[in-house]
Amino acid sequence: MKINQGYLRLKDSYLFSTIAKKVNAYKAEHPEADIIRLGIGDVTLPLAPAVVDAMKKAADEMGVKETFRGYGPEPGYGFLRDAIVGYYADKGVKIGADEVYVSDGAKSDLGNILDIFDEDNKVLIPDPVYPAYVDTNIMAGRSIDTASGNMANGFKPMPDPSYQADLIYICSPNNPTGAVYTHAELQEWVDYANKCGALILFDAAYESFVSDPTLPRSIFEIEGARTCAIEFNSFSKIAGFTGTRCGYTVVPVELKRDGASLNAMWNRRQSTKFNGVPYIVQRGAEAVFTPEGMKQIKANLAYYMENARVIHQGLESVGIWHTGGLNSPYIWLKCPLGLSSWDYFDRLLTRAGVVGTPGAGFGDNGEGFFRLTAFGDKDRTKEAVERIIADLK
Ligand code: PLP
Repeated sequence: MKINQGYLRLKDSYLFSTIAKKVNAYKAEHPEADIIRLGIGDVTLPLAPAVVDAMKKAADEMGVKETFRGYGPEPGYGFLRDAIVGYYADKGVKIGADEVYVSDGAKSDLGNILDIFDEDNKVLIPDPVYPAYVDTNIMAGRSIDTASGNMANGFKPMPDPSYQADLIYICSPNNPTGAVYTHAELQEWVDYANKCGALILFDAAYESFVSDPTLPRSIFEIEGARTCAIEFNSFSKIAGFTGTRCGYTVVPVELKRDGASLNAMWNRRQSTKFNGVPYIVQRGAEAVFTPEGMKQIKANLAYYMENARVIHQGLESVGIWHTGGLNSPYIWLKCPLGLSSWDYFDRLLTRAGVVGTPGAGFGDNGEGFFRLTAFGDKDRTKEAVERIIADLK
């Protein structure tokens, strides 16, 4: 019996546990301290009433013999797949219902998709980025090359034509940097991937925060993407489903590698290892795309985006270099005074009572940077920004 050695190569992540430890220690020493948390990546507003009503109705159906549902279709109910197709159509993107696979969230799909690829693929992952891409590939036994995000490229690494990648991760808007690729930039990635036969795994978990109509919200807005990309999306951030759990993956039917259809392979993988998302949750997700649901959800998104704008403006007013915040719930700033990520964390905690996330936790290139999020309370966010500014004066 042999274990998967990949697990032994994983680096332990102490990011959020170290943050919690430091905050708790500070609170124990300073019980009077009024601490504002701008570090969380979780949503805080409740589910929209339209979503709750739809789930209640679905729960009632489950208690009646005539409307009770057992196992559902593994890729998701037709009503939700069709609603997702409609959501893409509203963005000007044409996809088919048979290309949409509903799941319990983007994190699961991002990890599970690796089942259909050979271990020997060369993987290119941006640094800094959402850590799950790196860890799932290490678990799958792959070594990783990083695409360097930095101030010079606005934390949007571009393809290097002299390097042959097989699997490429792109997260736009990016967690943690909030950077959003333009059409032209994504076109470069798509052209590169089509030329060298690479596959782009595009994480669109934060697309609903893009307010600039000139910026892409789906890789499938880009010409040629259907032959080189899979898109992952989620109800977590658009509609507060982080605890309710629902997401989906779009695999174009014409996407082939080694002569095999990736759509058919993903279908086979899901129907073998996954038994679908609860009917009640899928009805809740469907309600997101009704006119009433959309209106309520847009009000929640606007609330977060106002927070993002307040943080952005505050940083701008004191000349702190940053990305994100205009089309993303994340603001990524260069630590002032040349401080390291953790030194700035300690300084903000102890001098301003504000908690953020040290950028070093998202990759080597994150050192010297810091992430703030817009998912907090409106008044507390304003106060936190005032404190951050006051600390520098
Ligand atoms: N992708 C990115 C970039 C994320 O930041 C997150 C969660 O924070 C996820 C995916 C996970 O999404 P889900 O809740 O659908 O699993």
